[in-house]
Amino acid sequence: MAAPVHLLNLDLPALEQFFHDLGERPFHARQVMQWVYRRGVLEFGEMTDLARGLREKLAAAATLRLPELAREQVSADGTRKLLLDLEDGRQIETVLIPDEERLTLCISSQVGCAMGCDFCRTGSGGLERNLTTAEIVGQVVLGQGLVAPEGRRISNVVFMGMGEPLHNLDNVVAAFRILSADHGLNITRRRLTVSTCGVVDALHRLPPEVLPSLAVSLNATTDVVRDRLMPVNRRWPIAELLGALRQLPLPARARYTIEYVLLGGVNDTPEDARRLVRLLSELRCKVNLIAYNPHPDSPYRAPEPAAVEAFQSHLLEKNFTAVLRKSRGQDILAACGQLKAGEAGKLGS
Ligand code: SF4
Repeated sequence: MAAPVHLLNLDLPALEQFFHDLGERPFHARQVMQWVYRRGVLEFGEMTDLARGLREKLAAAATLRLPELAREQVSADGTRKLLLDLEDGRQIETVLIPDEERLTLCISSQVGCAMGCDFCRTGSGGLERNLTTAEIVGQVVLGQGLVAPEGRRISNVVFMGMGEPLHNLDNVVAAFRILSADHGLNITRRRLTVSTCGVVDALHRLPPEVLPSLAVSLNATTDVVRDRLMPVNRRWPIAELLGALRQLPLPARARYTIEYVLLGGVNDTPEDARRLVRLLSELRCKVNLIAYNPHPDSPYRAPEPAAVEAFQSHLLEKNFTAVLRKSRGQDILAACGQLKAGEAGKLGS
């Protein structure tokens, strides 16, 4: 007997095709998506507007299995780090980050990561495998199920957990479409962020609809420093990365996000701030600054608050939008660069 089809892998056209192949009418695709994404119902038997025969057929031919919650840690600031078991026994981490206005879910796209950024715990263990579309979407369905009893909805999703999303491009794009579709989770695209360390050949394969959601981790203003921090830079140096971004068909009025993790004494000097302004002068972008969170084995230290302030002030003076992102969940290692499944935790690209 064929393995059950995982319906979280399928966007609307693919789900319609699935029903067609099952000898059923394609409009059932929308019904099933509504049950799953709007109402959080994952048992075919509970989808009461489907005929009983169809529910039985689905139970035999399909699955909606989610990753399983193995452990949850809650930070003093309310951040919740979820350790999830996958079907093959591997583990990933997903982080729920509440604040007054938003409820952000930071999701993983791979088990581990091949990129080896020097400041990141996830990269230190190498890549194990890509996540499927169902495993990516499943993190959001699971997260939504956890917050629904509190009457909340996940408002923002960031692909900043474990892995380099552009190394798993097809599944990340398929998940992006399911998350943003009105028959899917209906999260508007401006509330989705796909973060990359700068895999230039994959940038050219991104569909235009994803570009306004793109965040690029730059983290240095010279190739010497970036080579050391992010090995991807040896393949695609800063000028090539920024040149590629400038050439992509970013829609009018949209902006990229440039992520810049400030590492004490490494990339946080006034000269770095001046170079960053020059580098970004012809790129439509806003800048997110993140003060580094040292993890226990890290050779890097947090920047001095005065250095962070001066860095941000320089960008603002030069008319950049430059936001200092608060670090969340530090006490449970749920902050940027700290996730590492099976231990205490990362957030990477
Ligand atoms: Fe991978 Fe992102 Fe960590 Fe770099 S920062 S090693 S791309 S997870």
